[in-house]
Amino acid sequence: MKSTLMVVVFLLCSSVCAQTSRAQRTMAVTIDDLPYITIDAPYLPNAQRATKEILRVLAKHKAPVVGFVNESQLEPAAERDARIALLKQWVGLGAVLGNHTYSHRDLNQLTVEQFEEEITKGDVVTRELMKARGPYQLYFRHPMTHTGDTPEKKAAIEQFLAARGYKVTPHTIENSDFIFNVPYAQARHQNDLALAKRLRDAYLDFSMAATQFAENISPQMFGREIPQILLIHANDLNAEALDELLTRCEARGYRFVSLDQAMADPAYQTRDTWVGKMGPTWFMRWSASKNLNLSFRADPDPPTWVMDLYNQR
Ligand SMILES: [Zn+2]
Repeated sequence: MKSTLMVVVFLLCSSVCAQTSRAQRTMAVTIDDLPYITIDAPYLPNAQRATKEILRVLAKHKAPVVGFVNESQLEPAAERDARIALLKQWVGLGAVLGNHTYSHRDLNQLTVEQFEEEITKGDVVTRELMKARGPYQLYFRHPMTHTGDTPEKKAAIEQFLAARGYKVTPHTIENSDFIFNVPYAQARHQNDLALAKRLRDAYLDFSMAATQFAENISPQMFGREIPQILLIHANDLNAEALDELLTRCEARGYRFVSLDQAMADPAYQTRDTWVGKMGPTWFMRWSASKNLNLSFRADPDPPTWVMDLYNQR
């Protein structure tokens, strides 16, 4: 009798525990600065290696992706075809390619007219490559997610984008991969594999801390966890660490969904009225729009030793 009871208790517990670890969390993956962002290294061989690995990992984890392109990266005539071939690989995998402006210039530094030109020039090749896809949602992401340092600039660009069928792409998780990537890529080039591994591990831990912060703040804002949108870059660090990053997300109960699916959640109807020179996550913008005054003090920063290496570059 006692042992039967223990078995029942054990079964109940294991079922509850399994459900907790299989919480239905969802995440859309977005990757910026396509085809590839280099740190002091020959572009093409590294870009080819990184692209192949990132796409392999996304397929392995069945993670739909939107990749945001800077077409100025296609400029060098001798490599133009080879660089376009990299984008073709993304399309071949089923990725949606979005517009990240032509040359990644900062809206804070430009007039509305200059930024509109960056948008118009931003997806000429991309649209051609996406032609066979049929109708698809056009997505735009501002460089550095700087969406306008004055209300007038922000509104003008939003109208310009909406009139051309673009949706502005939010993000809710940002893991400072571009900071970790600088010392990581340098360590790799100098064959300092111990430092590269230390940076990779710190990056993964920091990514999970940033994810956990998003999970914690979401219920304070919406009463539940909303689909998260991760923003990362097409760089060496993610070529190395994306597999483990997605595996750790899966262990937290995430399943990967398309950006269309994530943004179908009503939370993404929340207005972003935030104006400023910085490019914070959408949680901070929504907190301002909804007058919630939530604390972002627990939003983690990269470790000091990583920031020091980054600033020494
Ligand atoms: Zn970017």
